Amino acid sequence: MDKFDVIIGLEIHAELKTKSKMFCPCDNDSHGAEPNTNVCPICLAHPGTLPVANKQAIEWTILVGLALNCKINKLSKFDRKNYFYPDLPKGYQISQFDLPFVYDGYLEVDGEKIDITRIHLEEDTGKLNHPAGKAYSLVDYNRAGTPLMEMVTEPVIHDAQTAKKFCQLYQQVLRYLDISNADMEKGEMRCEANVSIQEKGKWKYEDGLIKPIGDYQLNPKVELKNINSFRAVEKAIEYEVRRQFRALEEGEKLVQETRGWNEDKEQTIRQRVKETSADYRYFPDPDLPPINITDEMIDNIKTQLVELPIQKYKRFQSEYNLSPNDAEILVSDRNLAEFTENTISELHAWVQTNGDDDDKSKNRLAKLTSNWLISELFKHLKTDNLSIKDIKITPGNFAELIAMIFGGKVNSSAAQIILEEMYRVGGDPGDIMKALGLEQIQDDSHMEEIVKELINKFPEQVEQYKAGKEAVLQFLVGQGMAASKGKANPQVLSELFKKIIK
Ligand SMILES: [Zn+2]
Repeated sequence: MDKFDVIIGLEIHAELKTKSKMFCPCDNDSHGAEPNTNVCPICLAHPGTLPVANKQAIEWTILVGLALNCKINKLSKFDRKNYFYPDLPKGYQISQFDLPFVYDGYLEVDGEKIDITRIHLEEDTGKLNHPAGKAYSLVDYNRAGTPLMEMVTEPVIHDAQTAKKFCQLYQQVLRYLDISNADMEKGEMRCEANVSIQEKGKWKYEDGLIKPIGDYQLNPKVELKNINSFRAVEKAIEYEVRRQFRALEEGEKLVQETRGWNEDKEQTIRQRVKETSADYRYFPDPDLPPINITDEMIDNIKTQLVELPIQKYKRFQSEYNLSPNDAEILVSDRNLAEFTENTISELHAWVQTNGDDDDKSKNRLAKLTSNWLISELFKHLKTDNLSIKDIKITPGNFAELIAMIFGGKVNSSAAQIILEEMYRVGGDPGDIMKALGLEQIQDDSHMEEIVKELINKFPEQVEQYKAGKEAVLQFLVGQGMAASKGKANPQVLSELFKKIIK
């Protein structure tokens, strides 16, 4: 495998969540509808009907383009992609061929720019059902005509992990822009990968294409479909690279083909030998006039841009001093990122009024917030399979809990109990602390009493500690925590033991 380069390009389709379908007034949300009830003469392709392009879908495609540093075609048009399949009522799909709305951009993955060739708009097909044991198939056209945005990358990805991460980051962008649910399990986002392996030093990039050097014969690329999860993106590509490598090793000739990912067998299976674009006989759709995109339109769409995950990721590190790993997790969901920021901004306001708004305190508060979100709150969310937008805790209450931990009002185990209560029923952490009697003992003389009693109670352990057995201190602190019913500050206890034993 060392003598080969892996070359991967991605095609990602995403259903846009516009109100109506791409070319007709039908509701774009067929969720739970009976088959073939969300249809009209236009999306069923009755003779004499005319499509009208959905303006919102076009604007959102341009919006994604702007978010991904792309150029916008000032003149764009729709074309007919001709092929016959029963889920396609017209006998052709309205798509875009040579003038997509958007071209030539990039998405940054781990500091590397992955080039995007184009983003275009088309219509989705219907769905076929094959009832088990029956000699017929059924077709449901509810999905026919749903706006489908297709993004194509250059073949510049060289490993399965990067391909997977690209898909994840692209999903984040669509969700931040609030234009698609982009749920892969529901088919709202579909990733396809073109995979080939080429001998090292025998090929080069030319105008974004793979070209052979000298008389080298390029190996054909294989298109992978039926990929329904991020995990499957990685697994399918890894499998395919191994399969192609083994085939070449055994002297087999690879063919350009489409293969489907079989989740149960964890392998790719041949579906068909691939068509070339000439087979589709593309031509401009005479029913839809070409579209002029004016500067004014683009300026207007620019106002809908929001801060994107990659920008937030960088800012969380520079502004809050969070680690790259924490920042990556916290920006992965727009609601989570907003919750984090609202919490931290409450805390910064709080230290400002307290007068200790130095950078050290601010950074520590941000770090505490991040830790308590990622390691503590996430535990509850994972157990119940909820996301941050479903919870009863407000950023204000979460900030107060962090402030209580920061100020030593509660110790870590008490804070976990309070958080669980906040998570279950909501409410103010200060009130919960009082109601449950979890306030940390602030009174040092009371703690001293406890420590002295324990020193009398465990003379043997005290002698061991004096003799240099440091680990015994943990035992004594544990006894102190038990004696204080968990309300003592373990650090203070530890210091007191050391001081008094001396
Ligand atoms: Zn319709």
